[in-house]
Amino acid sequence: MLDWDFHTHTVYSKHAHPDMTVANSLAAAAAAGITRLVILEHVPEISVERNTVAQWKKGKDERTQLDAIAADLKETEASFPSVKVLRGVELDADPIALDGSSMLKDLSGIDIVLGSTHVFPGGAAFWFDKVSLPPERGWKIALEWAAWAERFVRSGVPHVLSHPGDLVAARELVPPFDKERTLELFDPLLSAMAECGVAFELNELLGAKLPPAYRETYSALVRRARGHRLKFSVGSDAHSPAGVGKFNWAIELIEAAGVTASDLWQPHAS
Ligand SMILES: [Zn+2]
Ligand SMILES: [Zn+2]
Repeated sequence: MLDWDFHTHTVYSKHAHPDMTVANSLAAAAAAGITRLVILEHVPEISVERNTVAQWKKGKDERTQLDAIAADLKETEASFPSVKVLRGVELDADPIALDGSSMLKDLSGIDIVLGSTHVFPGGAAFWFDKVSLPPERGWKIALEWAAWAERFVRSGVPHVLSHPGDLVAARELVPPFDKERTLELFDPLLSAMAECGVAFELNELLGAKLPPAYRETYSALVRRARGHRLKFSVGSDAHSPAGVGKFNWAIELIEAAGVTASDLWQPHAS
C-alpha cells in the first residue's frame, strides 16, 4: 500500500547504522518497492559529539551532511531508476529565538523540509532527555511549545511537521491523546498547518519512543488532524537499511484514524 518513504537518515547523521550509506539506502528502497524516497539529515547535527544543547547549537547553519548526501547521490542515483529521490532536511526551529525561525538559512538544493522541534522551548534539554516535570510545569512548557511550533509552521519553511507531539508526549507534559484538553492544545497548531499546507507526519519510529499510554492513544491526534483536513506524510525515520520503507505503526495509525489514500501527502518537487 505504501510505496513512499519521506524520512530516511544516513551514516552522515553519526548515529545511524554503519551500513546506512546513501547507496545501501537506495538499494534497500528499491528492494522494498519504494518509488519515492526522501534522504535527509538533521540540521543542527544530533550526535554523540553534539549531545548537549550547547554543543548542538554550534551546528546552526552547518550543511556539511546535506552536501555529503548530495555528492553521494550524484554518484549512485542513476543506478536505481525505480526510486525517485528527493533531497531533504530535518530542520529544527530555533529553540532560543522561539520566533519560528529555523536553524538553517541556506536551503539551496533541498526539495523537502521536515520541520521539527527536538529541543525544549528555551533550550533546556532535548525531547529525549529523561526529564520529568510536575503537571503544572508540564502544561506551561506544552503551551509554549504549541505556540512556538505554530510560529514555525507559519514561517513558511517546513513542508511537513515531523513526529508531531513528540516532546509533549515523550516527556508526558500533558495527559495522553484520549483527553479532550490535550487535543485542544493541538487545535491552533493543526489549524495553522491546514492554512499553510504543512503535512502531518506519520513517523514509524515515534511509536517506539512514546510511553504506552501515548502510543496507544496517538491515533486520536491523527483523527483530530484529519478533522482539520491535513495531509499525512509517511516516513520510516529509518537509521538502517532494514528500516527503509518498513511501516507497521504508521499503518496501524492510518487504519485506526481512517486516513485514506487521498489524505496522503506527496511532495511537489520535480
Ligand atoms: Zn526527528
Ligand atoms: Zn529523523
